[in-house]
Order: sequence, then structure tokens, then C-alpha cells
Amino acid sequence: MNGTLTSNWNSRSGTYDVVVIGSGYGGAITACHIAQAKLKPKPSICILERGMEWIPGMFPDEPEDITQHSLTPLNPLGLYEYRLFKDIDVIQGSGLGGTSLVNANVAIIPEPAVFEQDPWPGGITGNMLAPYYERAAKALDVGQHPRGMDLLKVRALKKRADLSPNAKFDLLRIAVNFKIDGIDPESGVERHPCIDCGDCVTGCNVRAKNTLYMNYLPLARKAGVEIFTQVKVLFIKADPNGGYQVHYERFTPRHNLPETGIIKAKRAVIVSAGSLGSTEIMLRSKNQGLKLSDTVGTRFSGNGDFFGISYNSNQRTDILGFGNHPNDPPRSNVKAGPTIVGAIRYDRNKPLKEQITVEDLSVPRAGVIPTRNVLSTLSAGGRDTDPGDLVQELARIARDIQFDAGGALNHSMIYLVMGHDDAGGTMNLKNDKLQINWPGVGDQDVFGRVNSELFQHAKALGATFIESPVWSFFHSRRLITAHPLGGCPMGETSHSGSVDECGRVYNGKSDKEIHPGLYIADGSVIPTSIGVNPFLTISALSEYIAECIVKELKK
Ligand SMILES: Cc1cc2nc3c(=O)[nH]c(=O)nc-3n(C[C@H](O)[C@H](O)[C@H](O)COP(=O)(O)OP(=O)(O)OC[C@H]3O[C@@H](n4cnc5c(N)ncnc54)[C@H](O)[C@@H]3O)c2cc1C
Ligand code: SF4
Repeated sequence: MNGTLTSNWNSRSGTYDVVVIGSGYGGAITACHIAQAKLKPKPSICILERGMEWIPGMFPDEPEDITQHSLTPLNPLGLYEYRLFKDIDVIQGSGLGGTSLVNANVAIIPEPAVFEQDPWPGGITGNMLAPYYERAAKALDVGQHPRGMDLLKVRALKKRADLSPNAKFDLLRIAVNFKIDGIDPESGVERHPCIDCGDCVTGCNVRAKNTLYMNYLPLARKAGVEIFTQVKVLFIKADPNGGYQVHYERFTPRHNLPETGIIKAKRAVIVSAGSLGSTEIMLRSKNQGLKLSDTVGTRFSGNGDFFGISYNSNQRTDILGFGNHPNDPPRSNVKAGPTIVGAIRYDRNKPLKEQITVEDLSVPRAGVIPTRNVLSTLSAGGRDTDPGDLVQELARIARDIQFDAGGALNHSMIYLVMGHDDAGGTMNLKNDKLQINWPGVGDQDVFGRVNSELFQHAKALGATFIESPVWSFFHSRRLITAHPLGGCPMGETSHSGSVDECGRVYNGKSDKEIHPGLYIADGSVIPTSIGVNPFLTISALSEYIAECIVKELKK
């Protein structure tokens, strides 16, 4: 199937058996499994996704195009969303396939101890989830980069692990295709192998990244799911005749004012709009009269995300992405690799709260010039771990004026780190706009510890250490997360959670009473930080929730 997956909006029906909101991991996985289950009679299913359909080849790879395709109030169909809140900012994607379109592909399983914490329901454990992790990993076709150890950034990352007794280095499993060149027999989608271009987080134009657009979504479409894009769900109401009303607004690129309407769901609604989107929908639905647990809007976590930079080191790192332009002459001798390829997991024998994971990042083509300009400026305030090399350092900075493999940025490392915060953020609506409040989050111990460890990374390379600028600027201690979690947390009862272990939404009237047919499946149900990249965990939980929904629909 190489055409578009989106159905014609005018062909929509006013009522479906099942309505799925959002097309990220939660939405794509549940829609696909319900459609593929041998249910009799076969339910009608639609997905409502607020973003546009992005066909590989359309993804921006120049700096000005990134700005043009950012989601803002004036551009509700933008692909890249940067949400500014008081204490923490959130980066996410908007489009058919959700944040899978612009993420870094890392598929990793957290420590089993994560699920032993409160308020995870007793039924969810590492062992219990194991087969669901495997199912998701198989569908997303995850595996190690076959030539990962040849990448210079991976060697630079490992250098620190080799010096530290409590560090374990590994090539990560990533959702990237290195084999198929042609039509994938399973999904019917055209695929090509990765060319190591480093553009995964702006969108893969090569058809190598295993986004949801390459697996669950085409399979869902094949199994009869109707997919509607540019449809933003506002809230859900119980329908007086049974089932639910899903209230939406629909944007088209040509019209500034959205069209509004209602689609009815007779048997099930699955809310899968991500941590921010689902919480916003549920809070608004509560304001519209839907009874919910008081925990809706609680347990927001940034997954302990943190960043830091080793700038202008003595080791070439090849982190400069070139996009789908492999013949660009100056870039031809650089192999950026996928955005993230390796990881160091620290202190796995210590209590969970002390464990951190550090990963390498490449800069996508569109980010090379802005990153070079920002880092060369910030380096003035950085800490040089090897001042003896000043002449060489200045020579590399001088070479960095144009794209130059010998320049300072191509001798730098940008690290993504995950640890454990206290998931203490709260979300509410103010004038109908989502707010996140989390006073003092950046002062939590974990971030100071991570910052010290990243200094050691810089030292191992003889680099200048640049602290996360948003965190260190005037001691502001602001954070940025690419892994928003929580907001509609799972819990054993409606006192500790908004949904049960099957994603069924508590109605708040008693401990266990639920709204029949109303589910949440996505990152919003994760009630704690998990300390590693989260999509495989979101996918495993969604596989499990899908199984629960199919069982209910069979009754
Ligand atoms: C730059 C970046 C890199 C990342 N790298 C990794 C990585 O390497 N590994 C990893 O595990 N995780 C990574 N992540 C995070 C990961 O992609 C997310 O955790 C995951 O996609 C969340 O899945 P989800 O189903 O909860 O939500 P999403 O994938 O965000 O999907 C939610 C969907 O709902 C839609 N939506 C929102 N509101 C509405 C509404 N009101 N109506 C209709 N639709 C709506 C959104 O447009 C979106 O399509 C990264 C994230 C970013 C931003
Ligand atoms: S490195 Fe390039 S080709 Fe490979 S998955 Fe990422 S964007 Fe696609």
C-alpha cells in the first residue's frame, strides 16, 4: 500500500462502533488489533488524528522549513510541537503516526523494579508485560544497528563507559530498517534501508524508520479502519441513547476557522492523544459533566529527561546529519547514523532512583547550522576539561564556519539522559488551555547527579562541558522533556488512578466502578518515570489494553 492512508472526510459516517482518538503508539496499536480480531459482527472503527498525513519524502530538512512546519495556534496542522510551560517544556509530534514520526527510534525495556512502585496496579509487572514487549518489538521490527560500533559518536560514548566500573554500554535496539529494500510483504509498504543520515527526529525521507506509518497503521487500514486526519477532539460526553459523543473540530490548510461536529461511538472510545492530549481531553470532558477520578491531571512526569554537551573534543564524532542528500559533497565522508544508536546504563545494581541512562544524539540536517551557532556561543561559558589543547580547539572552531567534518561541532557529543523524577507534575485547564505546574522540579537531586556524570563524559573526551542551557541559564532549573508521561495514571482503584490496568476509565463513584466502553491507551496512563525511552513500554501496555478491549467487545 503506497498511497495515502487517510480516508475521504466526506465519506465518514456519523456513528462508529469504535472511535480511536490519536494515532500514536496507543491509538495505532489498539485500532489495529481491534480491527484484526475476528469479532462478529465486525465493528466499524475510525481513528481521529489532529495532525496531517506525512508521506516520507515530505519531511522538512532545512532550518526555515522546521519553523514553517511547527505547530502553533496559527498553524494547528504543524508537525513539530514545542509546548512551553512554567517549569518544564515538552517536545512532541503531531501527525498520522504521532510522535513516532519524529522520535529517535530507541526501543528499550525498563528495569522490572519500575512496575513495583506505587501506584502501578498489582497486575502489571515486568514478567507479565514481557510477552507484550516482544509482540510490540516484533511489529516495530526493532534491532541493533548492524554497523553501530563503526560510528564515531558511539565510540566516543563508550569511551566514558570504559572508564567507569558502574557503567554498562550497549548498542540499543532501534526501530530502523537495515534490510528490506522494496515492498514489505507484511504491511505492503515500500521500504528502503537506512543510509545513516541522522535525520530521524525531523522525519525520515528514506522510508527506513519504522514509524507507525510503516506497520500498525497500514495494517489497521487494511483491516478496515477508517482514518481521518486534521480532526482534533475537544471532549467526550455520554450519549443519552448509550455510547459516547466525541466532539471535534477539523482544520484544513485553507480555512482558518475549524469546522466543529460530533461523531458517535456505540461501543467504545479509546483516548490515545498522548500524555498532554489525553489529559486535556479528559479534563475538558470532566468540565462538560463526565464523572472522573480526582487523579486526572496528576502524576505528570518528564521521565527524568536531561541534556548536556561535550563541545569541541579531541575526538571526531560525526554527529552532523545530512538528510536524504547522500551525495552532498562535503557530507559524503560523514556517517551520522540514526539519531540514537548506543546507551550507557549506570548503577543498575543500585536503587532505581539512582539509575540513569545516557545516550548519543546526532543533529539532523536542518539543525546543523543553528546548533553550531548556539554551541559556539555557549561554549564561552562552558568548562574546558582539557585547557592544554587551546590551539587545536581554536583551529576547529575556525573550521566550523561552513559544514566541515574537521570543525568543532563534528567533534562534539550531545547527550540525552533519562533518570527518575518524582512524577509530581499536575495538569489543569486555565481558560481552556492546558497548564503544567511542577514547582522546583529542576532542583530534584537526580538532575544535579546527571549533570556531574555528564561532566565526566566531557572529561573523557577532553571536551568543553556545556550544561543544559535551559537548566543552567541564570540558575533557572527549567527542564525540557521529549518523554511526557502520566496525567491519566493507572492505579489499583480510582483513589490512586484514573484508569485500571486495562485502561478502563474509572467513573470516580466508587473504588472500581468504570465507564463502560471508555478506555485510555498511551503515555498518559504511565504513573511514574521509567528511566529509559518510553515508546516500547507504551506499546507493550497498549498491546495488553487492546487484548482487554477485544475481550470486552466479544462479550
Ligand atoms: C524528538 C523526540 C525523540 C524521541 N525519541 C524517542 C525514542 O528514541 N524512544 C522512545 O521510546 N521514545 C522517544 N520519544 C518519545 C515517544 O515518541 C513518545 O513517548 C511516544 O510517541 C508517546 O506515544 P503516545 O501514543 O502516548 O503519544 P503520541 O505518539 O504523541 O501520539 C499522540 C497522538 O495524538 C494526537 N492528538 C493529540 N491531541 C489530539 C486531539 N485532541 N485529537 C486528536 N488527536 C490528538 C497527536 O497528534 C498524536 O498523533 C521521543 C520524542 C521526541 C519528541
Ligand atoms: S538515519 Fe536517516 S535513513 Fe536512517 S532511519 Fe534515520 S532518517 Fe532514516
